[in-house]
This record gives sequence, C-alpha cells and structure tokens, in this order.
Amino acid sequence: MPRPRHTMPRPLPASHSVDTSDRADSILAALGKSTREKITKLGIHRDLDLVLHLPLRYLDETHIYPIAHAPYGQLAQVEGVVAHAEVRFRPRRQLVCRVEDASGEMYVRLLHFYPSQQKILREGARVRLLGELRAGFLGPEMVHPQVRVVSEDVPLKENLTPVYPTTAGLGQQPLRKLIGRALGVCDLQDTLPPAVLQEYQLAAFAESVKYLHEPPPDAPLAELESRQHWAWQRLIFDELLAQQLSMRRHYARRRSLSAPALAPKKTLTKALIAALPFALTGAQRRAFDEISRDLSARHPMQRLLQGDVGSGKTIVAALACAQAIENKFQAAVMAPTEILAEQHYRKLHEWLSPLGIQVAWIAASVPKRAREEMLAQVASGSAQLAVGTHALFQDQVSFARLGLAVVDEQHRFGVEQRLALHNKGVNPHQLMMSATPIPRTLSMSYYADLDVSVIDELPPGRTPIVTKLVEDTRRDEVIERVREACRTGRQAYWVCPLIEESEKLQLQTALDTYERLSANFPDLKVGLVHGRLKAKEKTEAMAAFKAGKIQLLVATTVIEVGVDVPNASLMVIEHAERMGLAQLHQLRGRVGRGAAKSACILLYAPPLSDMAKARLKIIYEQSDGFEIARQDLTLRGPGEFLGARQSGVPMLKIADIERDHLMLTQARTTAEMLLHTDLPAAERHLARWLARAEQFLKV
Ligand code: ADP
Ligand code: MG
Repeated sequence: MPRPRHTMPRPLPASHSVDTSDRADSILAALGKSTREKITKLGIHRDLDLVLHLPLRYLDETHIYPIAHAPYGQLAQVEGVVAHAEVRFRPRRQLVCRVEDASGEMYVRLLHFYPSQQKILREGARVRLLGELRAGFLGPEMVHPQVRVVSEDVPLKENLTPVYPTTAGLGQQPLRKLIGRALGVCDLQDTLPPAVLQEYQLAAFAESVKYLHEPPPDAPLAELESRQHWAWQRLIFDELLAQQLSMRRHYARRRSLSAPALAPKKTLTKALIAALPFALTGAQRRAFDEISRDLSARHPMQRLLQGDVGSGKTIVAALACAQAIENKFQAAVMAPTEILAEQHYRKLHEWLSPLGIQVAWIAASVPKRAREEMLAQVASGSAQLAVGTHALFQDQVSFARLGLAVVDEQHRFGVEQRLALHNKGVNPHQLMMSATPIPRTLSMSYYADLDVSVIDELPPGRTPIVTKLVEDTRRDEVIERVREACRTGRQAYWVCPLIEESEKLQLQTALDTYERLSANFPDLKVGLVHGRLKAKEKTEAMAAFKAGKIQLLVATTVIEVGVDVPNASLMVIEHAERMGLAQLHQLRGRVGRGAAKSACILLYAPPLSDMAKARLKIIYEQSDGFEIARQDLTLRGPGEFLGARQSGVPMLKIADIERDHLMLTQARTTAEMLLHTDLPAAERHLARWLARAEQFLKV
C-alpha cells in the first residue's frame, strides 16, 4: 500500500545534538509519590518519556455542531439547553433528557447515572455534549455522552483533545498537563541526521511531537487516527529505527566475540548424509549450507532455523552437530520438554552413534547414578553430543569443549535461557529452531538480531491432512470415526481443551475425557498424557503409543510439539476455538506423518465470537504454516504472537510492522547505515527511545 507523504513542513533542523543522559528529570522529580507510581506504571521514567507518551486518539472539542446538522455515527460536539429531564423505569431505569438548540432537538440517555449527573442535566441547564449521535426511539440521541455544564461563553478548545493511554487513578487532565510541561522543558532536537530526514521525507522530531500532543483545530482527524499523518510517520520511523538499532547493534557486538571456527571437514557430515534412508530436500540442503558457513566463522553463529512442522529440521541440526564434532568440539541439543528431548535423543543416537559418536542423554528421569556418569562424560569430553531439556543444561552440565548449542522451539524461551549458556563462560555457536513459522515482517523486526534460515519445503510423500470443523453436539459421530480408525490398525489423538484460567480444571477435564473415552471404547487401549505426570510417566505413555500398544491417546496440549508417530492418522481437538492458530497448526502436524490418509477434526462449541470464527476459518482453509502465521499476525498483532521473546525485546508501541512494513525496511537500512557511518547519531537516537529497554539485550 503506498504511503501518502503529503504536505510536510520543513526546513530541517540545523543542529542535532541531544542531551538526554544527565538532565535532571525535574517534572517527574516534583511529583508526589502516588502520582509518581502511577506514571511509572505507564512506562514513564524520565521527563522525556512523557513526550514519547503519545495519544491513543483524539476528541474534537474545537467546534460545535448545530443539533440538526451534527453527523451521525461519529463523535460530535453539540450544545443546547435541557428542555426536559426525567427518570424512566421502562424498559429499565434510565435518565432521559431532551436538549434543544436553535436548530433542533435531541435526546440524551444515561443507563447508569449518579445524582450528581442528574443535577448537571436538570431542566434549564446549558450543556455541551460530546458523543455519537444515533437514531433512537424518540429521535436523534446520544447514549452516555460526555456532558459539561457551560455558562454563557466558555471558549471552545483550540486544539483537538488528545486521549492518552492511562491507568486507574490518573486522569487525562493531569496527564495532559504533565505532557504539556515536558514539551516545554525537554530537549526535542533531532536525533536523525538531516540526510536521513531528507531521504525518507520525514518531519522534524520537535514539530512532530508537538503536533501529536497539540494538533491544530483543522488537523485531519482521520489521518491522525490511521497514523498516516506525517507527524505519526516520523515517530513511527523513530520507533522502528530505535528497535533496529538496538537489535543490529546487539548483533554486531556478538559478531565481535570470538568462537571456534568449525570449518566443514566433510568426514562425519558426509558419512551421515550417505547413511540416511532419504535424500535431503533442497530447502534442507540450503539451510545446512548457511549453517555450515556460519560455523566456519570465528564469531558465534546466532541463527534461527525456521520450518513448518514436519519439514525436517532435526536432520539439519544433526548435520550441524556432526560438523562441530568433526572439528573435535562438542555439541548440545536442548528441547523444552522431556518428551521432545527424548525424541531428539533417539533420532540423534540412531543417526550419529553408527558414526562412532557418543551421545549423552541428560534427563530428570535418568537415575542419579547413570546421570552422574553422563555428566562426567560430557565434562571430560568423551561424550561428543549431549541431549536433554533446558533446565538440566542450565543447572548441571559443564562441557569440556562446547562448540555448538542447538535450541529447539526457541520461541518458548526468553533471552534468559540463552544467557544461561553464556554464563557458563563459553561462546558457542548457537542454532535455534522454531516450528512456528514467523512472517517475514515479524522476523525482520523482532528477530533482527538473528540470521534466519527457512525450510520452506516438506519432504516428499506426505499425504495432505484433511481438516474438518465439527460442532461438538456431533461428538458421537466423531467417536465413531475414532473407532473406525483404530479398528483399521491406525492410531488417534484426542486433545483436551485448553483451560487457561485453571490448570487444575484442565487436568480434571483430561481425566474426565479419559474416563469417558475408555468407557466408550472397552475394546481399545486408551492412554493419557498430561502436564502433571512425571517426566518418566509421560515418556512411558508416549513410548507405548509409539510402539502401538496404545491406540487412542488422550492428551492435553503437552503433545504439541515435535512428537513423531507416523501410524497416527486421526486427531480430534476439543474446543478448538480456544486455541491459538500456531498451536492448532502444530497439533495438526502430529498426524499426516506416514503414508496413510490423515484427518484432523476440530470440535468447537457455539456460539463463536467473530474472532474465533475468523481463526477457525484460517486453520480450516490453510495448510501452509507461513500463511497461517501471516494471517494470525494480522488478526492478533505481534505481542501475543511472540510469546516469551518479548520479555527481552523492546516492544513496539506505535509502529505496526504489517501496516508500516515499508518503513520497517527503511529503518533497517538506516540502522545499518548509522551503525557504520555515524555511531554518535545512533547512540543519541537509542538514548532517546530506549534508555531502559537496552539493558535487556546484553546477551
Ligand atoms: P520437524 O521439522 O517438525 O522437527 P522432523 O525433523 O521431526 O521435523 O522430521 C519429520 C520427519 O520427516 C522425520 O520422521 C524425519 O526423519 C523425516 N524426514 C526429514 N527429512 C526428510 C527428507 N528429506 N525426506 C524424507 N523424510 C524426511
Ligand atoms: Mg522438531
């Protein structure tokens, strides 16, 4: 979408030095404790943050419409005299007033009201009303408008009235005052070099913030609301640039660290490829080439390997490990759950031990004695590869020569876990894997500190999964489907609903479902896995399912990621409307792993919200994880999408990476340019925008 750059005031500021560091924050310092606390809740820690606290929207109180000509369906201000006021009791208690001006009359209706409001809206009072006019039962009406008593000529506002994000106990009025003061005392000089302003046609910072906080009466409201206005555009650019600078600088810092150069020797990797029962897909080869090149470098790799469920990331990770090991270094593979970790262990062991590689299995379920033995092997270097869960790696493992750390499902972890490895005093190469496909704009923004490889092709021979949406009143038919599948030698999953409010309730639901289904299928072996089982019990249940000893596996969402049972061809998901799209897509990816025709039945409970409908439609129509992710991002915005990662990444407050994707590209280019040619400008810009957020990113 082309972005209108319209008429914009210039010229550009001549000087651009900003002093943000040791200014006394006089405005904040003067506040009382309780106001100060509320302000802090809004993320305002410096006077300058007040300037950067931008309006959510605007009210137009700059002029008054004659009642007869006020537009319907949008905020409009009118003024008149209360001609009649009464409390009615039908259909329910409400205050109804008729207000007249020279042009006509209208009604005000308050469904909840206080005596104080009754006093204001008494007959004969002159009132100014701000609200949305609608066609009501009695005529034009406003329901719950903003009401203000006015004496003869109270002047109209000169500017549009900004409405700010705020918190309980802190009104718009005091907030506006503080911001107004901050605009007066803070240094608003530009952080951007004139050449950048020129190139991207950006307005000056000072002018832009003043405009947004105090727009002139003729300001184009629609453009302001859609943030297409030049003043918004300037600040959006600033915010995106700050994010890019922070992440790219972080990236650059890491590149200045040193790591062992693990150039391909092509001994183990070649042997591994030769021994595989399948040929790598083109996408897998490309991804491994990129990783292989990174490993050869003298600075630590920070690469994210993205690929849809079942795209074959594990073998790529195994090849990376093999390259580290053929250089006489160790590798580690970590997964978020023991089920997943064990699956990796089996695969890696199967592939790598024939090549003479010793693989250590580090899990909570391994008896203490054996585990100590494993840890000793890792510490001495006799085990070249260690596989396990995150928790264990953080606490207990020390390596003789760790060269590569592979982290599966990295989106589940924050920066802290990544930190943990560094705290062991090593800088291994790091490969992160994620089966949550990340739309390009998102990875360009929030993953700007990583290199990204994408596996965008599934191995051949997969049968497409048929997805069905079924109302949960038709549960009996679904049960028949399950019986049928299991009777023909296939296996099925039954996924219990996610109950976010209560883990206890979720567990109860899983137990109930298990009981009911066991009663339904006396002739089948039914198993149960849930989050409360001990790791060992989970693993046993999964192993039994994998071996075909269990035909129907009732599960909570613990099976979400990575479980590989090719004979399972049917998945039922209860209350699909409660789950995120990424999660549904992940779950669905558990079937369709073998040659058999597979199906995923999404049970839902009506009535569905519009959002739920929109999401179910996406999962029903799309099988490509990237496309699902893209649509999901548009529906939900990046906050929820990113999960844990956001803890360490400065979140965008005003920019929207989808809407502003053109500017995102420009910000990225500008960040690179500044970091290479004008570090002081980069520092100034970061100081203005990210004084606090920076501390999170020192990985
Ligand atoms: P994911 O990317 O979800 O982690 P996996 O690595 O578990 O996927 O791979 C899914 C399945 O596909 C595994 O059984 C794996 O052995 C198999 N596989 C991986 N690559 C190929 C390939 N190139 N051809 C055929 N099968 C493959
Ligand atoms: Mg996997």
